Amino acid sequence: MNILVLNCGSSSLKFQIIATDLETIAQNADRRLAHGQIERIGGAAILNFSAEGKETERSAMPIKDIRTAIETALRWVTAEDSGIEGVQGIADIHAVGHRVVHGGEQFKQSVLISEEVLRGIEDCIEFAPLHNPANIKGIQAAREIFGRNIPQAAIFDTAFHQTLPEISYLYAIPYQFYRRHKIRRYGFHGTSHRYVAYRYRTIKNIPRSEVKIITLHLGNGSSIAAINGGNSVDTSMGLTPLEGLVMGTRSGDLDAAILEFISAKEGLTIHEVEMLLNKQSGLLGISGLTNDMRELIAESEESGDRRARLAIEIFCYRVCKYIGSYLAAMNGADAIIFTGGIGENSAKIRKMICENLSWMGIRLDESKNETNKGEGIISKENSPVEIRVIPTNEELLIARDTVRLIYTGDPAAG
Ligand code: AMP
Repeated sequence: MNILVLNCGSSSLKFQIIATDLETIAQNADRRLAHGQIERIGGAAILNFSAEGKETERSAMPIKDIRTAIETALRWVTAEDSGIEGVQGIADIHAVGHRVVHGGEQFKQSVLISEEVLRGIEDCIEFAPLHNPANIKGIQAAREIFGRNIPQAAIFDTAFHQTLPEISYLYAIPYQFYRRHKIRRYGFHGTSHRYVAYRYRTIKNIPRSEVKIITLHLGNGSSIAAINGGNSVDTSMGLTPLEGLVMGTRSGDLDAAILEFISAKEGLTIHEVEMLLNKQSGLLGISGLTNDMRELIAESEESGDRRARLAIEIFCYRVCKYIGSYLAAMNGADAIIFTGGIGENSAKIRKMICENLSWMGIRLDESKNETNKGEGIISKENSPVEIRVIPTNEELLIARDTVRLIYTGDPAAG
């Protein structure tokens, strides 16, 4: 089956076409046929499309909305000269898998999309007002383009964390707010943490129930998960993705009283302060330069920029503290795994994070760390806790869940 994987944001679209079925899943032989992204939808958009094994094609054109973006991507995918094997028309796309950010408590796993599911995703808009509306628009546009007969699945960022126990998902605020409004920790990046845990147990050839690890998804958005018995038991993001680690533009953890304080001092509404904590804080806020870790590293190394260095140090310090607390919460772990744009690519950040952890049996091998490419072990042989890098692949899990839902009604195999 050729699965179209869609990740629809408020002004961006990322897509992949993945050829997969139950047999290729069992053999780990799924194939990515094409991928691409369109940014700045709603104005002069930038498009990047790549067929597997071919050069990336870049272009720019006005794109008014998400439906036009999906249609534009499909026109490219199905064009004769795109060189994508086995995809000549939209009839060669057999199902669509959508990344959906918030599934609340209602969605504990991936589901095929029905009217009822769509209403459920709408119910979760209040928790993810920046994300779920864009996801819904993507689902509706795909229905209009493909008709109702092709199966569409929703894969939720929150679903993997639905196994969190009460002690880690409840906030210490009056309990009725959980009962009345479902205010609790949901956690995000669930598909990424789940993929990494799945790869780990496949590489180690151990059953799901024996997976006891800490996964670090470090990218523009960052989160950490404690996984025990194969299940997520704690994670750093909360009701929304704002909580936890320092991120590109998000503050992560802070004293809630700061909201009212900034509001009074700066004459901002609470909503404006929340936006400031989401969009102008984190690495960008501390450095005053950029939210991009690669650029910050270059600034601190080349021009010795003090605040760039400070932003990097605060980022690493926060990650280190979380690792310590999850090791305590789980009474140890067998491995710590880095993923995401920063976690996969930056030996420097991995080294800075691990520096203070040696007393806990976490010993980085500096030369393995420096030379690692793709999946690999970067800890010393005598390190009781393994350190690994596993590049994430959320799109693959989205495609696989979609196929499994269609054939077996069960996404399972988490
Ligand atoms: P993601 O959101 O997972 O795509 O990750 C994006 C982040 O990864 C950005 O902050 C990038 O600067 C960062 N990143 C990518 N490659 C590197 C690298 N080689 N060194 C440091 N940061 C990197």
